[in-house]
Amino acid sequence: MAVNGDSGAIPVGEPHKTFDTILVLDFGSQYSHLITRRLRELNVYSEMLPCTQKIADLTWNPKGIILSGGPYSVYSDDAPHADPAVFDLGVPILGICYGLQEIAWNLDNKNVVAGEKREYGHAEVTVQKHAGKKAHIDRLFQNLGENLEVWMSHGDKLSQLPAGFEPVASTPNAPYAGIASIERPLFGIQFHPEVTHTPKGKQLLSNFAVEICGARQDWTMEKFVDKEIERIRAMVGPKGQVIGAVSGGVDSTVAAKLMQNAIGDRFHAVLVDNGVLRMDEAKIVKKTLTEHLGINLTVVDATDLFLGRLKGVSEPEKKRKIIGNTFIEIFQDKAKQIAEAAKDSPKAGDIEWLLQGTLYPDVIESISFKGPSATIKTHHNVGGLLEGMHLKLIEPLRELFKDEVRALGTNLGISEELVWRHPFPGPGLAIRILGEVNEEQLRIGREADKIFIDEIVAAGLYRKISQAYAAVLKDRAVGVMGDKRVYGQIIALRAVETTDFMTADWFPFDGEFLKRVSRRIVNEVDGVCRVLYDVTSKPPGTIEME
Ligand code: GLN
Repeated sequence: MAVNGDSGAIPVGEPHKTFDTILVLDFGSQYSHLITRRLRELNVYSEMLPCTQKIADLTWNPKGIILSGGPYSVYSDDAPHADPAVFDLGVPILGICYGLQEIAWNLDNKNVVAGEKREYGHAEVTVQKHAGKKAHIDRLFQNLGENLEVWMSHGDKLSQLPAGFEPVASTPNAPYAGIASIERPLFGIQFHPEVTHTPKGKQLLSNFAVEICGARQDWTMEKFVDKEIERIRAMVGPKGQVIGAVSGGVDSTVAAKLMQNAIGDRFHAVLVDNGVLRMDEAKIVKKTLTEHLGINLTVVDATDLFLGRLKGVSEPEKKRKIIGNTFIEIFQDKAKQIAEAAKDSPKAGDIEWLLQGTLYPDVIESISFKGPSATIKTHHNVGGLLEGMHLKLIEPLRELFKDEVRALGTNLGISEELVWRHPFPGPGLAIRILGEVNEEQLRIGREADKIFIDEIVAAGLYRKISQAYAAVLKDRAVGVMGDKRVYGQIIALRAVETTDFMTADWFPFDGEFLKRVSRRIVNEVDGVCRVLYDVTSKPPGTIEME
C-alpha cells in the first residue's frame, strides 16, 4: 500500500520542521554534542550536522547557527571550512573557539595565527560594555555579570579583529575572548560555554538562542508527543503496519508505547525469550507491556533453542554471535508469521515498517565530523535483518537524548521504575556468566542478581548507580559451610556510576551494605561460597565482564 506522507492541515515532519531549531555545525570538537544538549535543556530544539553540510541541501530553516570547536587550525591546508552560504543566510551565527576563528577566517583569511602559548583550562573573562549605537553587540554577554569564569582550550588566536567587529569580552591573555559584528548578527567566543567548567555557559547560550535568534523555548516532551504521533500516523498511513522487537528496556518500551498510541494494534511488538534473561523477566515484561501499556505483544519462548546452541560454548565473542544470529532468525520467522496473518485483516495493510529504538547519540556518532580520513561508522545497520521483507525503518526516538526518552516515557504513563531501569545487554546473562552457560549457572546468576538488585533498591541507591549486576565466575573456590568443606561458585558483584557509559567508576558501597549482600547470597543461593566486589573502573575494565 502507498505511504501517505501528506496529512493535510497538521504540520508533519521531523522536529526541525515543527520546532524553532538552532543548527550546530560540528567541526570535530569532542564537546560539539554538548552544545545541542545544553540548548535542549533550555527547551530550545537543536540539531547537529557535520561542518561540511551544504546549505543548499538543507530542507529546513534554522533560527540560528553555532559553529563548534574543532582540533584543526583554520589556516592549515586540510582544515575544514563551512559552506560560505552559511554566512549569507542572514540568521545569527555564534562561533565557539574554532568556530570563532572560522568566522574571522571567512571574512579575512589573514587574521588567524598560531598563538605563542596554548591556553588550556580556567580563565576569567572581563565583559565589556558598549553604549549607544553599539549597545546591541553586548546581548551575548547580557546578565552574566562583569567577570565570568570560563574554560578555554586553544592554541590559535586572532591577530586582529575582522572589519566591523568589536571585542565584547577579553582576558589578560586573550584580548578577543568574545567578539561581535556591529553590522551583522555574528558573534564569536574563544572559550567553551557548553562545558560545566563554564558555570554561566548555559545562560550565554540562552542569550544567543533565545534573545538573539528569537527561538521559542517550546521543546518539551508534551509537545513532542503530539507532533510525533501525528508524524507516525502520516508516515505509516491509515492501514500500514509496523513490527518491532521489545526487550523490556526503556528505549524499546517507550518506542513501543508511542507506536501503540499512534496506530494501536497495527503495531506488533515481539519479545524473544532467549533463555538468558533475568529472573522472571519475560513474565514481568509481558505483564507490563500488555496489561499496563496495552501494547499488542507476542512473546516467543525460544529458551531451548538458544541454550541448545550455547551448549559447550565458552568463548565470549562466540556466545554473542550465537545469541545475535539466533535472535534475528527467530524474530524474522515471527515477523513473517505475523505478516501472513495480517494479510487477512480487512482493516490493515501489509507490514511495511520495522521499528528501531535508535537514539540521537547513535545518530551523532554516525554523522559527527571526524576529519577527512576517518570513515563514517553506520549504526544500527539492519539492512539484512528482515531479509526478503523489504521493511522500511521507523525510528521515532531518533532525535532524542536518553534523558529526553525518559521524560517522554513518563509523559506516556510508563512507570518510574521502568523509565529509570538500568541498561541490560542483548546477550543477557550469557555475558555475565563467564565460560559455559547452563541451567545451573543461570539459576545461580539469576538468584544472586536478584538479591543484589533488591538490596540496592532497598538502600535507595538504584538511581545513583548506572548499572549493577551479579556475575558468575568460571572458577570455583573452597569454603567451609556448616563445618563441611565445600567447593563452590564465586559471585562477582559489579556496580558502576557513569554519565555516558564511555567511562565509568565503581560505586563506593559502604562495608555494611556489602556485608549484607554477601551474607544473603552465600546463605540463600545454593552452590555459592564466595562473593567478590569488582573495583575496576572503565577504562580499563568494561562495564560487562565479557
Ligand atoms: N584548533 C584550534 C585552536 O587550537 C581550535 C581549538 C578548539 O576549537 N577548541 O585554537
